[in-house]
Amino acid sequence: MKKNDIFELEITGMTHEGLGVGKKDGLAVFVQGAIDGELVRIKVIKIAKNYAVARVENWLRKSPHRQEPFCLAYKRCGGCSLQHMTYEKQLEFKHRVVKDNLERIGGFKDIQVNPVIGMEIPMYYRNKAQYPVGMGERGVIAGFYARRSHEIITSDNCGIQDTKSEAIRNAIIKKVKEFGISPYDENTGKGLLRHIITRVAHSTGDIMVVLVVTSEKIPHLDQLVKHILERNPQVKSIVLNINSRRDNVILGDKVITVYGEDTLIDTLGPFQFHISPLSFYQVNLVQTAVLYEKAVEYAALTGNETVYDLYCGIGTISLFLARQAKQVIGVEVVEEGVQAARKNAKLNRIDNTEFHAGLAEEVVPRLYLVGKKADVVVVDPPRKGCDLALLETMVRMQPERIVYVSCNPSTLARDLKVLCGYEYSITAVQPVDMFPWTEHVEAIILMTRSGSSEKK
Ligand code: SAH
Repeated sequence: MKKNDIFELEITGMTHEGLGVGKKDGLAVFVQGAIDGELVRIKVIKIAKNYAVARVENWLRKSPHRQEPFCLAYKRCGGCSLQHMTYEKQLEFKHRVVKDNLERIGGFKDIQVNPVIGMEIPMYYRNKAQYPVGMGERGVIAGFYARRSHEIITSDNCGIQDTKSEAIRNAIIKKVKEFGISPYDENTGKGLLRHIITRVAHSTGDIMVVLVVTSEKIPHLDQLVKHILERNPQVKSIVLNINSRRDNVILGDKVITVYGEDTLIDTLGPFQFHISPLSFYQVNLVQTAVLYEKAVEYAALTGNETVYDLYCGIGTISLFLARQAKQVIGVEVVEEGVQAARKNAKLNRIDNTEFHAGLAEEVVPRLYLVGKKADVVVVDPPRKGCDLALLETMVRMQPERIVYVSCNPSTLARDLKVLCGYEYSITAVQPVDMFPWTEHVEAIILMTRSGSSEKK
């Protein structure tokens, strides 16, 4: 096989990123946009040692699960990757991704995975939009990064963002051009405006706008603020985030409020939450409600338990658990998140929580040493999963149940394998679709303790 070869290929599987896969001459061929069960004529665009990458020339047999993508930018934009599949097919795909990872990486044979809980209306679900800003052919632009690149695509009518975000982005860019506010250039490190971020409170529609800038000296800032407010009176907070670093991390440490409140307030279930610009908040609130209710169900609290909520963000899961626990101890590395968590507990008149700032793998061993044991542990780590030191301390604390919320099935499988090396076993696996049309997969797992804490 060589580059530019054209041949027919039967698509027999899908990668975890959503690419179609077929085999030719013993080599795996990855095909963007192809679905398992399809027969396609492809053109090879890249050959590596163990695999090839190809593009579809034409379809000889289409999948019944194929649909027309609803977004005009779909082919190029890096945001969505499964729009060519029906929503039902996506849910089946995500189910398989969880099962595959648990079986292959975790070594859990024939594991039972519940059907993915999908969204009834999987559109406009994201409450946070992050638009990188750059220079286009006709002046300053803001949009989304293209797939596997930092080219900016000015996608309009995005089907997954809250619809208010785009209008605010456009209003800002109009004035940015007028006032000569320079866009940041990644190559040279010069320029002022790096990102426009909008956060919309699901319950009220209130909006926070974050302008990520290299310096607070922004020409005509007052007029820019005024214009944003005129365009959308639901904007309740405008903040500058200062980031002068030369890397890919979006946010800097310094925040300056230039209009309104320092935080946005959202309601989820019976609780209100202060959301601060630097801290994590789930992006799909409809499904977050489903996920948190599952966490509460799996934690199965009676009111006597001490519960750890690790990687607690602004304390959202903590408050859901606190209603039914003796005490909840939250741990979160972002200091601002911990402050918000304390504020949130107070706001909701919950007095049986405490929050610690620091790395879970450092804080939890210290708490364990001073005798703070856990009856139930909830963990919700970022994509890289849990540190081994944390998993080992968790085992030593001998909680009856561990509830693992994961946004990355491969690190999930790795971590569950560690826990199952001790006296824990998997009781339930429930994927929840937090990110329709994208390849991202969320799952919540209940593990129960079945004896001593000795390694098996
Ligand atoms: N449970 C929360 C947040 C989940 S996101 C919610 O549902 O909203 C994961 C969180 O873990 C983020 O807030 C991130 O700042 C935090 N985090 C990342 N690495 C960490 C570590 N090693 N120790 C503690 N917190 C960490």
